[in-house]
Amino acid sequence: MNKPKAVLLFSGGLDSTTVLAHALHQGFDVYPLSFDYGQKHKVELQAAKRVASAFKVSLNTIQLALGTLTGSALTDTDKCVPDFGGAQAIPVTYVPARNTVFLSLALAYAEVLGARDIFVGVSSVDYSGYPDCRPEFIHAFEVLANLATKMAIEGQSIRIHAPLLYLSKAQTIQMGCALQVDYALTISCYRADGEGLACGLCDSCVLRKEGFRVAGILDPTRYAIFNED
Ligand code: ZN
Repeated sequence: MNKPKAVLLFSGGLDSTTVLAHALHQGFDVYPLSFDYGQKHKVELQAAKRVASAFKVSLNTIQLALGTLTGSALTDTDKCVPDFGGAQAIPVTYVPARNTVFLSLALAYAEVLGARDIFVGVSSVDYSGYPDCRPEFIHAFEVLANLATKMAIEGQSIRIHAPLLYLSKAQTIQMGCALQVDYALTISCYRADGEGLACGLCDSCVLRKEGFRVAGILDPTRYAIFNED
């Protein structure tokens, strides 16, 4: 029997890699989708390739026209990614409408493939305050997907799966470790260097590091400056 196809928003980071392992474990034939959207941390695209090849899935990378998504510390060279800020307003690393853009393209890809399932690794627990990581957003996008596509209108309803939505970073790491994910392959840092070494200080690094600590699992991340643990 053919496995059902699923599209996954995939960055090569800790969260989307965990979701990849989860979706494969659930029996889906997974089609990961990455985006070159002008992010400064290009090493994440290399991590995405590395992880996809480790999982033997075929990665599709969409190149967005330069300047489509800007105005973020992740894309603009004149804006610096700050150190961890803790609870705060929407941070400068917010990329305008990023998950709406990515999910829209994932939806089109899903319809092309005949896939009724789309996976995304957002979490509403340990996140940086991005509006497009909230449960309301995921629910609203699923409603939209079922209004907007020929597939859904003809009876093939579309499901948006966000299995990490209510999990902490530590719980996500535990889930991935139970699925034998090798997190050394993944990159979460917003300002990783050309070698893929993490800074250890940005929001993403601090949440990740704390996740490993709380989960009681050795952090395999390679840091540029120090390895605390
Ligand atoms: Zn970092």
